[in-house]
Parts: sequence; structure tokens; C-alpha cells
Amino acid sequence: MKVFLSGGSGFIAAHVLDILLERGHTVITSVRSQSKADAIRKAHPSVDSSKLDFRIVEDIAQEGAFDEAIKIDGLEAVIHTASPFHFNITDTKKDLLDPAVIGTTGILKAIKKNAPGVKRVVITSSFASIVDGDKGNSWTEHTYTEADWNPITLEQALENPSNGYRASKTFAEKAAWEFLEKEKPNFTLSTMCPPLVLGPVVHYLNTLDALNTSNQRIRNFMTGAWKDEIPYTGIFIWVDVRDIALCHVLAMEKEEAANKRFFVVEGKFSNREICEVIRKNFPEYGDRLPGKEVKGGGYDEGGLFGWDNSRTKTVLGVEFRGLEESIVDLVKSLKEVEK
Ligand code: NDP
Repeated sequence: MKVFLSGGSGFIAAHVLDILLERGHTVITSVRSQSKADAIRKAHPSVDSSKLDFRIVEDIAQEGAFDEAIKIDGLEAVIHTASPFHFNITDTKKDLLDPAVIGTTGILKAIKKNAPGVKRVVITSSFASIVDGDKGNSWTEHTYTEADWNPITLEQALENPSNGYRASKTFAEKAAWEFLEKEKPNFTLSTMCPPLVLGPVVHYLNTLDALNTSNQRIRNFMTGAWKDEIPYTGIFIWVDVRDIALCHVLAMEKEEAANKRFFVVEGKFSNREICEVIRKNFPEYGDRLPGKEVKGGGYDEGGLFGWDNSRTKTVLGVEFRGLEESIVDLVKSLKEVEK
């Protein structure tokens, strides 16, 4: 298929891009600058420009940002991953909510208007749009599924950056489903709702100082920043980046995935478990890791909510990688970046 991938320089999108190419699709990806396009192009020397091409979209929060970029002959599918995921913000609306919501509605409007051949749209949402923050991690009587929606309000969104991020994902995904209902476009929609995404980064787009948000906890172990105390894990469920990336592509390819949300989760993890995986597999980091006697980073005594990934397994048919494989491959990739 001919696919438009937004935010191709992102942690997850870099893997989506490679999986699309491996499976024979043609990719046109948007990035914010020519230098990012050049870096991706250079990392794919054997792929010619008829299979991989670029569009510059500097700021998805601008109305109409995708209108021109999406005008592509024969375009059949769109995977929209671009959205801010960081907590380093000054203005929740401007820095998180607008790019998430206007970015999502903007790309859907642009497709309807300027790419009428598109039949499939896949959007990266998040467990942030499913979880109910007020219930806490120890809501043991509840099992989260695709039927759950985060009830967060705009007022709560403005309370702190973490709420702001969760709200940005919730409002953006809701806006996408509302668009589908009201506008009745030619395309179907699938949304991907992963919890924390861990796993290898592509070396050509990263530096250790500007690592994507979800992998920063591993970097903190590797640099010795967490030697004296392991912080609270916060979010206790995860999935490997290669698995969530493959799910995006499968959702685009499979008819059965149309008009469904997918809660894409491997299982649970804690910061302490990550630490032990690094200790076991990378003895060279031993003196930077917290000793076994150091406190923190375990599971809550009250237990953890349940999760149900059966729709992802049944409809998309994926097998999930385990935590040890993911962390080992991530540490190896960060060593490459360090070089
Ligand atoms: P990254 O920060 O690596 O990727 C985010 C991408 O969005 C980057 O390409 C970034 O471009 C782009 N972007 C952000 N803001 C804008 C903007 N205003 N205009 C244009 N482009 C923008 O994070 P991830 O790969 O982790 O995140 C990708 C998606 O996955 C997001 O939608 C995120 O919410 C979602 N997600 C991620 C999880 C995780 O644990 N990683 C968990 C659940 C969902 P640039 O880098 O050039 O600024």
C-alpha cells in the first residue's frame, strides 16, 4: 500500500517506518525539518525515493498543517503517530492539547478533503486515554479493556503536565472517533492504545541527552542517576516498541481491525525488575546501578489493576516480546548511540 506516516522521526514511528518498508509498502513520512528527513534517508541507503519520501510539517498544531503534505497520488492509508510526549512544558494547551487534538482532527480533515483514495487510518493513542487516574494503580477489582475511557476533564488537564499529557491523548482520540461519526469519511479508523513503550531506539535519530520520554528510566539506570534510590514506577504496564509498531501496520492491513480500538499491552513491569535485567546482562554497568539493598522501585502493596489484551492477540495475531529481551535490546541500542 502507499502509506503516509506522520512524525517519522519519533521513537515508535521509526520502527513503524522500517516495518512498513520490510512488508513492501511505500512510505511518505512527515518530519519537522529537512535535517531529520536527511538522517532517515541516509539510514536507508538501499531504499530509493519511489519507496521512501518525505514531507516537512513543522507544527501539527497549526490548522491546515497537513493539507498540502497529504496530496499524494494513489495514497491508500495514513498512520498518524505525531503528538508531543514529554512533560517539559510551560503551557498545557499550547504545548500538549493543541498539537494532539488539532494534529489529529487536522490530518483527518486533510485526508477527507485532499486524499479521497485513503481507505484506512491508524492513530497512535495511548493507555492514557483508557486509564482512570483517580482510581489509582491498586484498583484490583477492575480489568481495563478497550471499553474504558479516561474521564479526565479540561480543568484536571490544566492541573499538572502528567494530567495534561493524559488529557491530550484522551481528547485527541475522542475527537477522532467523533470525526468518523459526524463526517462519515471514506476511510475506517483503528486506534492503538499502548501503555509505556520500551525497546531499542534507532541510533541515527537519537542522543542520550534527547532520548524519548518512555526510555529515560533505562538511561537513568545506565548513567548512575538512580544509584541511591529507585523511583516509583508510576505506570506498571508496558509493551515493546517493535510489537506496538507491528500492530500499527497490521491494523492498517487487516480488514477485521477496521473501526476498533486496540489496548496493546504485554504485561506488568517495575523499575526494580528493569534494574535486575540490566545487572544480569550488562555487568559493565554494575557500579552505576543501585545495590540490591537500595529501596524503591517495586510493586504497590495494594496490588495492580487487571488488563485484557485479548482483542489485540485475536484480531492482530501478535506475539509479544518479554521484558528481558526488550531491555537488553534497548541497552544495546543506547550503547550504539553513546558511541
Ligand atoms: P517521540 O517524542 O519520539 O515522538 C513524537 C513525534 O511527534 C516526534 O516525531 C515529534 O517530532 C512529533 N511531534 C511532536 N509535537 C509535534 C508538533 N507540534 N508538530 C509536528 N510534530 C510533532 O515519542 P513516541 O514515539 O514515544 O510517541 C509517538 C506516539 O506514541 C505519540 O502519539 C505518543 O503519545 C504515543 N505513545 C507513546 C508511548 C510511549 O511510551 N513512548 C505510550 C503511549 C502512547 P520531533 O521529535 O521532531 O519534535
